Amino acid sequence: MLDSWLDWALDDHPPTQTSGSLSGGTYQLLAPGVMALTPAHIAPAAHACIFSAAIHGNETAPVEILGAWLAELESGHRTLNAPVLVILGNLPALKQQTRFVSTNLNRLFDRQMQAEGAEPDRARELMAIVDAFYARHSALPKLHYDLHTAIRESRYPRFVVEPFAATPTEDAQWQWLAGAGMQAVLHQHRPSATFSRYSKHYHGAQAFTFELGRVAAFGQNDLAPLAPMQRLLGELSEGKRPTAGDASALAFFRVECELMRESDDFRFFFADDVANFTRFEPGAPIAYDASTGETLVGETPWHVVFPNARVERGARAALLAVEVDR
Ligand SMILES: [Zn+2]
Repeated sequence: MLDSWLDWALDDHPPTQTSGSLSGGTYQLLAPGVMALTPAHIAPAAHACIFSAAIHGNETAPVEILGAWLAELESGHRTLNAPVLVILGNLPALKQQTRFVSTNLNRLFDRQMQAEGAEPDRARELMAIVDAFYARHSALPKLHYDLHTAIRESRYPRFVVEPFAATPTEDAQWQWLAGAGMQAVLHQHRPSATFSRYSKHYHGAQAFTFELGRVAAFGQNDLAPLAPMQRLLGELSEGKRPTAGDASALAFFRVECELMRESDDFRFFFADDVANFTRFEPGAPIAYDASTGETLVGETPWHVVFPNARVERGARAALLAVEVDR
């Protein structure tokens, strides 16, 4: 199962056999990098689960923990009792070990999206597969965990981004996230066309974008801090109630504004390698842009997340967040 899934995803080897059995159910290879796991019996606490990785092709740790969890199912260490859709997103980028080939896949998950090209086509394919999966399991609560790693260091190496959508996040999710070793939560302040937001907005799923440490090549990831995350995936695939942690230990942030790059002459007033969630005090200068001038911190300290001065003009250069109560 695991080998044929990876062969089709990475070597363009269409499988001779697209389905088979595993402990507790069956698997079906639906498309390159996409596999549905269907249990023979659905546990009472089960969700319809989507676990995705490699939406950015160079983020390999999530691919490794998905592989390790699938190996547990394949060897019979875990028994499938919940339906799971497993997705590797950007296969050409994964093969080239780049973030994307022509455009950022994680900005394309919108039913109105009209763009053309390999990544827009893949986004349309994945949206249709997600729609069919949730329709097939419409009686179950829905869940989507989209697994990433971050480009830079972080004051909180493991955190989640909570997409902006009408569906409220259930309290139990915070306990599961804490139990899985997550350290912080960033609430989005407006819609953006990410994969996790797609499932939350269009399907009412409990959904997050996970940032699981820092980008590294295959084989160079430190997977020990991600063991509790792998356990969470395993518990969900068994339809169990996941291990709970202390949700009050999570730090919560809300995006206050997005800093956009408007001109060629754009720079930050901090070092290129500043860690995510670095705090800046009121009045501190953050960035200079030739068309909009200086951006200064307002009355509340700001925490800078995902800064990137080299984005194209008109794109987001950083998120500026404030610390909040849950
Ligand atoms: Zn990513």
